[in-house]
This record gives sequence, C-alpha cells and structure tokens, in this order.
Amino acid sequence: MSDVLLEAEDLAKHYPVTEGLIRAKRVGTVRAVDGVSFTVRRGETLALVGESGCGKSTTARLALRLIEPSAGRVRFDGVDITTLDRAALKAFRRRAQIVFQDPYASLNPRYTVAQTLSEPLEVHGIGDAASRRARVEELLGLVGLAPFHAARYGHEFSGGQRQRIGIARALAAGPDLVVCDEPVSALDVSIQAQVVNLLRDLQQRLGLAYLFIAHDLAVVKHVADRIAVMYLGRIVEVQEKAALFANPRHPYTRALLAAIPHPDPSRRGRIVPLGGDLPSPLNPPSGCRFRTRCPFAQARCAAEEPALVDGVACHFADALPPAGLDFSGGLAPNAQRRLALYAKAGAG
Ligand code: ADP
Repeated sequence: MSDVLLEAEDLAKHYPVTEGLIRAKRVGTVRAVDGVSFTVRRGETLALVGESGCGKSTTARLALRLIEPSAGRVRFDGVDITTLDRAALKAFRRRAQIVFQDPYASLNPRYTVAQTLSEPLEVHGIGDAASRRARVEELLGLVGLAPFHAARYGHEFSGGQRQRIGIARALAAGPDLVVCDEPVSALDVSIQAQVVNLLRDLQQRLGLAYLFIAHDLAVVKHVADRIAVMYLGRIVEVQEKAALFANPRHPYTRALLAAIPHPDPSRRGRIVPLGGDLPSPLNPPSGCRFRTRCPFAQARCAAEEPALVDGVACHFADALPPAGLDFSGGLAPNAQRRLALYAKAGAG
C-alpha cells in the first residue's frame, strides 16, 4: 500500500470573465489555480498557506471534486477521482470530507445536532436508526460535546462549539482525509487553539490525513507536518515544517514568515514585511509571478517561469542571503556577486 493518500497533478481552475447583456463575450480568464501538484500522505497534515485570493480554497474544492478542474488530475488511494461516475464519487465522499471556515453558515438552522450528524450516515446508508443514535453520541464525545447537545439547534451554540459540530459531521462516515478550509479563521483567538488542539487529537486517535488551508503560517505551525506555500495560483515552496521555518528558501515564504510577530518584542521589525498588492490572477506577471514584489528579482525572472525543483520554485533560491537576516535594504554584497555570476553563466 502506497503511503500517498491524495495526489494532485497539474491541477488548474480557470474561470472565464464575460461581458455583455447575455455575457456572451469572453474578455479574459481568472487563473484561480494554475498548475498545482502536491501529495498528502496517510495520516499526515499538509498545510496550504498563502495570502487571501491565491487559490487555496479553490484547490481544496478541486481536491474533493466539489468543483470540476479545468485541467489536471486528482488521485485518491490510487484512483483518479476526476473521472468517477456519480456512484463512485459518492463512495469517495465517504472517505474524504471537508470542514468549512464559517461554522455559522455551514450548519442547517432547521436541523438539530442529531439530525446534522446522522444525515451523512443516512446518505451513505450506514447503520440503522439505533446505531446512528449511538454513533451521534460517540461523535459528540469525540469532539468534546455532551450527549444532551444532540437535541439542540445550531444557533444555541457558540462559534467554537459550532465548529466542533462541523468537525463531527465531517467525521460521521469515517473518512481517511479531511480538508480543513480555514477552520479556525472565523473564531476568536482564544478559541482557535482549542479547535486546533482538537483537530490534532482527532488526527492521532483516528489516523486522519488533513489538507489544512490557512492564510497565515502562525496557525499551521501547530498542525502541519509539511507546508506548501501558494502564490497567485501556484505552489512556490513545499517543505517539511521544521525545514521551512528554519530555512525558508523562497523569497515569498520569507516574507510570510517575517509577517508573523516575533514573541520577543525586541526582535520584532527587523525584517520589513512584503509590500505591494497581490497582482490580479486575471493577468499574472510573466515568468515568476512573485517577481513584481520580490526584492531579489532579476531579468531572468521576467523571462522564464521557475519550476518547482527540490521543493522551491525560484531561479535564485541557492544564491539568496541566509534567511533571518535583514535583507530589507536589498541584497548582501556577497549574494549580489553570486547572482551576477549566475546571470552571466545563464544557470539557475
Ligand atoms: P483563497 O482561498 O486563497 O483566498 P480562492 O481560491 O478563494 O483563494 O480564489 C482564488 C482566485 O480565484 C481569487 O482571485 C478569486 O477571486 C477567484 N475566484 C474564486 N472563485 C471564483 C469564481 N467562482 N468565479 C470567478 N473567480 C473566482
């Protein structure tokens, strides 16, 4: 049995932009996700991070085929899910679930918690009425709620409790993979850690794999095994968590790390965080998409898109100054020399 559970290969999602009364004229394309490949191993957490609008949510939905890809493949347990028929897709949904960001919007207000949690069991034909009741009670216990909560409605709960219900619903049919789409972003900071700890605890008890979407690295520091950093529809770096934090290789990863406030105030503000806006996915820059905000950009970066090699998509990843140093004023003289040499040799 391969240890890879989910494999995305060159996934893309392009949305046409249309104009006119009946929207018949195509005036452009939003490249929401534009050639993304990654794997999630059994029982691990792969985090997808990046600024709002870089394509994380779209990637999450593609991974579960909640939306259809414009190109590329997704394999789950070795099976291509992009070509499954309805029956096979339903069987896949039993094994791969999603927890949404907004626990207020994702619960049906007319359902009791018992109804919310037994619905997936009914949909998949799991058990009878008595065993479903028992399963609902078990699920409530798993997520730290009490049996008497089963009879209540969603609006009777706090945000953190609602997210626990959302997690219980995702777990109802016994999935192997849970896609967590910003599962704590809508919660109070004081509640976030509780929900993150619950997710970690459940992972260990149930052997779950997570594809964990978050816009900042501070949240994923506590959950991820590996981290993939997205920028404008592409993955620019993917590393084991410890390696990524100790030695971020892509300039964009460094900027994201620099944006996390340092716990020691005297060490804050040494690195100037990333300026400028995310360019539009309607019209991404040529070559490396990050070049318009990159302090290290060279001519080659506009001409040639860097491939993801050894976990990093940057022509000059090996020539950058050591991470953690103040490079806000530009390149260290040594790195400048090395970059000049690279440019002359035409090698990356
Ligand atoms: P993230 O989750 O990183 O915030 P999204 O995946 O939600 O990013 O969106 C990526 C880009 O695709 C954004 O520019 C967004 O506006 C665009 N987008 C997402 N969904 C649609 C859609 N249904 N139609 C058109 N554009 C979309």
